[in-house]
Amino acid sequence: MMPDLDAIVADIIATMAQAEERGAVAAYIPELAKVDPAQFGIAIVTADGRMITGGDADTGFSIQSISKVFALTLALGKVGDQLWERVGREPSGNAFNSITQLEHEQGIPRNPFINAGAIVVTDVNLGGHQPRVAIGEMLRFLHYLCEDDSIAINEAVAASETATGFRNAALANYMRAFDNVRHPVDLVLGSYFHQCAIEMSCRQLALAGRFLMLDGRHPGGGRVVSPRRARRINALMLTCGHYDASGDFAFRVGIPGKSGVGGGILAIVPGSASIAVWSPGLNASGNSQIGTQALEELARHTGWSVFSPP
Ligand code: GLU
Repeated sequence: MMPDLDAIVADIIATMAQAEERGAVAAYIPELAKVDPAQFGIAIVTADGRMITGGDADTGFSIQSISKVFALTLALGKVGDQLWERVGREPSGNAFNSITQLEHEQGIPRNPFINAGAIVVTDVNLGGHQPRVAIGEMLRFLHYLCEDDSIAINEAVAASETATGFRNAALANYMRAFDNVRHPVDLVLGSYFHQCAIEMSCRQLALAGRFLMLDGRHPGGGRVVSPRRARRINALMLTCGHYDASGDFAFRVGIPGKSGVGGGILAIVPGSASIAVWSPGLNASGNSQIGTQALEELARHTGWSVFSPP
């Protein structure tokens, strides 16, 4: 039986409004530090096409690392399983921007959802073109997934990260030395920073995740990816989607999810729901404090889990 999602969302909104510990906004990207931490939004799209929203569900925010899910989907479409010769599939057990592991592993990042891995994926997606071509492709992909052409880049966030992204530049240069970044580093970083600076609302993000709920199908007809690929992307989200806290997220929430330092999380209940939550304050692992709590509540109320029968 379908849980009463309207009542559950209303309950979550009320509970989250009371929360005292809201985390801290990411300050290492100056433009993100300006965002009001009091905001919280949630959007749920069900497999039968219902949309349930609450709070600031229509406010745009910087999707940041959630873009790594869509970038990975595009890269797998271009080079298929060859991608795995250049990026691993293991949880990192390190911070999202860690450089030490790369040295031990010869410039092959642990997985596509930490920064180093996403930079390699960006390099694949560039495919010899200029960043604007790759970014245009990413935006068109999101427009198609969401059936909404209004999704765009926040140029101020992209500029802010370009001006301060020294650590990502270090990762990219380091991997270039191992020939695992193959385009000029400034082009790869330009593309990466712009893709992180895409702005979406919870409503749009939940729509974008529908293909992962539907075993690769686009609800409007046709396929985005094969069922096997959709399952594998979900597997990576579950094991690697929350940086060094991926195990904790699987334990507390029990469904695949990908977070970003803008405070958003995209979470997928295969066969049942695509969910987006957003609250800008982050916990110590860099994941949305209130967003994670909200998903934990949602999973508890609905019984949604990839570890239990549907
Ligand atoms: N653009 C951010 C960075 O590269 C993304 C980090 C994140 O959301 O995890 O540092």
